Amino acid sequence: MGMPSKSKIFEYWMNWLDKKGIDWGEPCCWACGRFWEDKYDIKKPRATREEIIKNWDNVPLQRCHIVAKQFDGTDEPSNLFLMCRDCHDKAPNTRSVEAFLIWTEKQNWYENFRDEVMKEIKNFGFEDRVEELNEIIANKEIKDKISENLGVHMNQNGKGAQITISTYISALYGYLKEQDKLKVSQEGNNLA
Ligand SMILES: [Zn+2]
Repeated sequence: MGMPSKSKIFEYWMNWLDKKGIDWGEPCCWACGRFWEDKYDIKKPRATREEIIKNWDNVPLQRCHIVAKQFDGTDEPSNLFLMCRDCHDKAPNTRSVEAFLIWTEKQNWYENFRDEVMKEIKNFGFEDRVEELNEIIANKEIKDKISENLGVHMNQNGKGAQITISTYISALYGYLKEQDKLKVSQEGNNLA
């Protein structure tokens, strides 16, 4: 017997997900909440329950064992959890359902992303301009632009691959350098 489909797994967890605040029609990683813009959202306002369930088969999430297979975890929907590849890679190999769920609760795509960003900021030698970078990252317009770019990259690869953080920071690096140049030329104009 093979693994159950993602829609079967979703169907088992529906009520749990509802309590957690995850929208059935807007699929995301059950741990970190990562999503793919609205690419996998149910766009049909009157979608049937069956259509909403089936839709989860299309989402680039992985079927992850809660109790690890090596500890005799089964392939039943009750022991499977849909997560993004990053969360699947990092998830604990455990005998404990409780430990697994505690771990998933602590995942936050945006926070993890920011931590990674800070690491790369150091790589690009921007640690003394973190405040400035935070302002850029906190700027809604720029954040939207970043999300758009992420969406594009993820959409190009149905497996849920993501733009690397270093790519992201090198883009910020370019943005900052551009701003620096503007400042210099503006100062030049003011002097003239
Ligand atoms: Zn995730």
